Amino acid sequence: MRQGKSGLVDLERLSTWHKYKKGLCADCRASCCTLPAEVRVSDLIRMGLVDAFEADHPPKEIAKRLKKAGIIDHFNFKSEMFTLARMANGDCLYLDSQRRRCTIYDKRPDTCRNHPQIGPRPGYCAYVTL
Ligand code: SF4
Repeated sequence: MRQGKSGLVDLERLSTWHKYKKGLCADCRASCCTLPAEVRVSDLIRMGLVDAFEADHPPKEIAKRLKKAGIIDHFNFKSEMFTLARMANGDCLYLDSQRRRCTIYDKRPDTCRNHPQIGPRPGYCAYVTL
């Protein structure tokens, strides 16, 4: 449990999340970037992790390489979604641990771009003060 704007937030309990409004991200410790981020091949291309040639290969082959490189934690064969790797403390691999900002913001995956409009609780986020 961590302190949010109006009470304690538990990432695992969606009922404790805050209604999202513009500006909340400015002083949030990026708790959304500690949730599992699922990405598609198109995201991996934008992130510069897969090139057009490799994109034509079966996703499971791409997943094998990215898992070995420590870039993904998991690959869902059915949905063909890759889950980005997280650090031991739960932070996304691409989160700057000090500044609490995404290091690949302009290239970030669609999942991150669409949060929290699309996500575990649409319109709500796990806002936690810095
Ligand atoms: S890619 Fe960037 S925005 Fe997405 S979860 Fe990781 S640090 Fe956050």
